[in-house]
Amino acid sequence: MEILIASKNKGKIEEIKTYRDSVNGIKWLTYKDFKGFPDVEETGDSFLDNAIIKARSLAEHTGKPALADDSGLIVDALDGMPGVRSSRYAGSDATDKENRIKLLKALVDIKDESKRSARFICSMILWDPKDGLVFKTDGVCEGRISFKEKGSGGFGYDCIFIPSGYDRTMAQLGNSEKNRISHRGIALAYFYDYIVKL
Ligand code: IMP
Repeated sequence: MEILIASKNKGKIEEIKTYRDSVNGIKWLTYKDFKGFPDVEETGDSFLDNAIIKARSLAEHTGKPALADDSGLIVDALDGMPGVRSSRYAGSDATDKENRIKLLKALVDIKDESKRSARFICSMILWDPKDGLVFKTDGVCEGRISFKEKGSGGFGYDCIFIPSGYDRTMAQLGNSEKNRISHRGIALAYFYDYIVKL
């Protein structure tokens, strides 16, 4: 079964591809397998809306079932920001580093760790070019924002996010440990439960 990963985010693609070696002969396809793979504009107000927008348009473009993950970071002290704007928090072409700098600055006056609570959210869906939405799930990973960057693994906000129960950032955990506890890893576990029953 061929499934397209509906993303150009290399960190996400790597985590999805390495989550499990092989299940029921899934062959992962990525943007590299298609010419003219479009950039899809994320115009939705929720993670679910954006996951549907991405999976649907890329399934229609490629004719393959598409798995989309729309994810982001919710920071309580910032009323839920950056949320669906996580990849564009510091501007439409912002780098991960610029987004992290902006976030740490926004929290600079919050010295009490318990007030730096945050969570990663992932909304994951599988869209079939013929049958439409065939699977939907989500995953949440609770934690807090650190005072400075630590670690070199992962991507995005990983090096400033300390998962609950840990004293290391997500970027200091290995890939398999991150996949075990992360929002995306939790959603992928549900996805594989669904796939193995097909
Ligand atoms: P999306 O492509 O719109 O889903 O963007 C997700 C954005 O949220 C990424 O660019 C990161 O900034 C952030 N994000 C999502 N998942 C993770 C993660 O696992 N680690 C760190 N940052 C993440």
